[in-house]
Amino acid sequence: MVSSGDQPGGQLMTTTEIENFPGAPDLTGPALITKMREQAIKFGTIIKTERVTKVDFSARPYGVWVGDKEYRAHSIIISTGAAPIMLGLDREWDLMGRGVSACATCDGFFFRDKDIAVVGGGDSAMEEATFLTKFAKSVTVVHRRDSLRASQVMQDRAKANPKIKFHWNAQVTRLLGEDHLTGLQLTDTVTGATSELAVEGLFIAVGHRPNSELFKGQLDMEDSGYLKTQGVITNVPGVFAAGDVQDSRYRQAITSAGSGCEAALEAQHYLAEHHSAD
Ligand code: NDP
Repeated sequence: MVSSGDQPGGQLMTTTEIENFPGAPDLTGPALITKMREQAIKFGTIIKTERVTKVDFSARPYGVWVGDKEYRAHSIIISTGAAPIMLGLDREWDLMGRGVSACATCDGFFFRDKDIAVVGGGDSAMEEATFLTKFAKSVTVVHRRDSLRASQVMQDRAKANPKIKFHWNAQVTRLLGEDHLTGLQLTDTVTGATSELAVEGLFIAVGHRPNSELFKGQLDMEDSGYLKTQGVITNVPGVFAAGDVQDSRYRQAITSAGSGCEAALEAQHYLAEHHSAD
């Protein structure tokens, strides 16, 4: 297994407690990753923490390069994940898991009876805001324009929810609080005026970017960069894709683990059918 040196373990490494991974009620994201890693090693996985720089899927065995170092494989599973698009604010990453989050289903539970904000105006923002009302006292959607990008049905659902308020024409320009988020500085995108919003949570929902750059020209992908698959099967025989790099909809650790298992079974079948030793 070749795992990037940038953030081995992926988005779970930035999640504090995990709410929706069966059998792991008390684990943090990094602790869950450590256990997964130990389990994989126990069953013989060799893990190389290196950043892949090039792939060539034009002929078998397929090529994977880390700089000048070349690996060859008859079957490959891609699970490079996706990264939430962030706002680029100072201390955004420091406050991750300390009030700032990019995943309502992962972290929403921890904001019971708190005032929180969601930034974004698309379907994700509406979905996250609506979901978060199950826990939060109030959810303020902060959007940089005065109309939403989200589909009408998602907008209507959010607007009809008494716990959701909208703060239009505003950008989050500063995160307030030392160890934990206590509020936001907002800047009006029309007038330039600044104001403060007292919240203990900020959910960033301005989109995700799949980590698929490496596969451009090699694999079919959507305009948004998500790899096109049938289940976990890509357009190249023997190359499979699991998790967020091919899933723009569910994006959960547990659904990714499930599709990883599907991809492993597919790879096993593929190798059995195509004489892995050739
Ligand atoms: P989108 O790209 O659709 O929306 C991103 C939103 O974030 C936009 O409102 C955009 O503002 C705003 N935004 C982007 N960058 C910034 C920034 N730097 N600062 C402030 N605001 C910013 O992403 P989504 O994740 O919402 O959706 C992605 C795709 O997934 C869509 O096709 C969507 O329909 C789909 N989806 C479907 C769901 C469902 O059907 N249940 C649920 C979730 C997603 P602006 O509008 O001004 O550009």
